[in-house]
Amino acid sequence: MASQPAVSSVEIVQEVPNSSVEDDTNVDLGEPVKKRCKVDDPTPLNEEQLEQRLNGILCCSVCLDLPTAVVYQCINGHLMCAGCFTHLLADARLKDETASCPNCRCEINKNLCSRNLAVEKAIGELPTDCQYCMRSIPKNMLERHEKHLCMDRMTKCQYHRIGCTWQGIFHKLADHEEGCSHLKKTGVEVLKALEDIDRQANEEMRMLRSIFDLLSFEKITYHDLQMKPYRTDDFITRLYYETGRFSALGQQWVIKARINDDQRNPTMMWERKISYQLVLKSKISSNSIDVHFVVLKGPFGNAKIKPLIYRFDFNSDKSECPYNYLPLPDSNECNKLLSSKTINFRVIMFQVPK
Ligand SMILES: [Zn+2]
Ligand SMILES: [Zn+2]
Ligand SMILES: [Zn+2]
Ligand SMILES: [Zn+2]
Repeated sequence: MASQPAVSSVEIVQEVPNSSVEDDTNVDLGEPVKKRCKVDDPTPLNEEQLEQRLNGILCCSVCLDLPTAVVYQCINGHLMCAGCFTHLLADARLKDETASCPNCRCEINKNLCSRNLAVEKAIGELPTDCQYCMRSIPKNMLERHEKHLCMDRMTKCQYHRIGCTWQGIFHKLADHEEGCSHLKKTGVEVLKALEDIDRQANEEMRMLRSIFDLLSFEKITYHDLQMKPYRTDDFITRLYYETGRFSALGQQWVIKARINDDQRNPTMMWERKISYQLVLKSKISSNSIDVHFVVLKGPFGNAKIKPLIYRFDFNSDKSECPYNYLPLPDSNECNKLLSSKTINFRVIMFQVPK
């Protein structure tokens, strides 16, 4: 339903060659006349307008966001981002129905739909703003620019390994490092900083080891899910996120998420955090299900999520685990997620053997 703008703008472009000039006086043409005038208008195109129109044409016809990864199309050419495409297929599987394109209702599946490489590449050429210098950079070059090239990018002092906490804009780095107080530290002071680094490395090592332990469990399952935003109907409405139901380990589940752990008004806070919970939807009678779970970026997501394993023992009285933080590097990353219309991620679940 929300897909109309994208579809109609594609049609305008296609309409032009066919539309006959001979009958321009025909009043019966109604609406298309106006649209055609727009396209034929010889006034030079404002770059921003062009960009907006391209956004409308290249966006996913389901979530209306610009796809960041693979783009699929139905046999009639309607575009779907990989996240929406797999979501539609999974939904249909759960309802035991044939999946269909939300635009034209034709059947969709992995054989009928193809990727659209031209659209994927065209999206990469669209400009986007660097978060540090605000210059307009093609999407496919943004990561390299922000990491290595931008003169305004945030950097750390090279002596952060021995405890310097200085952080700042790249073009001020050289000045700082020249006079960095950590150059004059004694061996004892440096040792203290190295111990902190070791502690952190050990922590990460322990996390990796526990992931390897979990990987040898008998029952493991992963799902690529999509969270959509909703609002509560309280007096002050609150934003929350929810996935569709999915089946894993022989049960039905959903994942819910909320912002700033349900503070009354997250918009008042500068800092943003997302926390999520796993909810068991099936009724289980006797046994409990003890699971470890971890949320990752997955193949269609673009959030920088650190792996953090949580554990909960689900039973008939406790079907919801507490809200756990989604480990994101900072509020900026969280805001990026909130600004997109859906959040794509992968959840891996490991059932603890009895
Ligand atoms: Zn989509
Ligand atoms: Zn279609
Ligand atoms: Zn920049
Ligand atoms: Zn320093």
